[in-house]
Amino acid sequence: MIIAVDGPAASGKGTIAKALARHYRLPHLDTGLLYRAVAFAVGQLDLDPEKEADAVAACDFEERMLEDPRLRDDRIGRLASIVSAHPLVRAALLQRQKRFAHQPGGAILDGRDIGTVIAPDADAKLFVKATPRIRAKRRHAELQGRGDLTSFDRVLADIRQRDERDSSRSAAPLVMAADAALLDTSFLSIDSSVQKAIAIVEAARLLQ
Ligand code: C5P
Repeated sequence: MIIAVDGPAASGKGTIAKALARHYRLPHLDTGLLYRAVAFAVGQLDLDPEKEADAVAACDFEERMLEDPRLRDDRIGRLASIVSAHPLVRAALLQRQKRFAHQPGGAILDGRDIGTVIAPDADAKLFVKATPRIRAKRRHAELQGRGDLTSFDRVLADIRQRDERDSSRSAAPLVMAADAALLDTSFLSIDSSVQKAIAIVEAARLLQ
């Protein structure tokens, strides 16, 4: 079974995808980490994230970079949304994600274009969303927990800017697949969000 979980930054899609992976005992890939690794490598190599050729040169990052906690920094998330808009960067990471999705036994992937580009044939597709303010509140609390003192207003502005960039790019923009189920986590606890996600997957399985 392939499960695609898409949605904007801090919507809860990562938490939901991890919980689904545990529930269904499926391997999980956080595809945002791949773009974050490219962004990080761009910085390390002193390249320009706005230049497509520079960003493509950074796609050959070392595998162990995916474990680096610095990939989770907001600055890297911002840079990731710049490098991920380049079609050739997306092309360089495409096969790896498709292979992961189509491995024997199935998989769960979360990102922006899983249900539309990476696995349009997924058995269940979820599009997870929440209002920008609520997402900013969650992200702000998470950053504070890590000792990062970025202000709420800055976090909110950042989320809005990333939404705009991810949704308006021409290469695999953030859009809900026509056959995805919408899960709005704005006023749901993590537990309720996960329960609803499981119910969506179960309903999709019944339709197979
Ligand atoms: O999900 P996360 O915030 O880690 O993703 C970082 C950035 O990577 C996103 O803002 C988006 O621009 C990009 N991304 C993407 N396609 C994916 C996953 C992430 O373009 N499948």
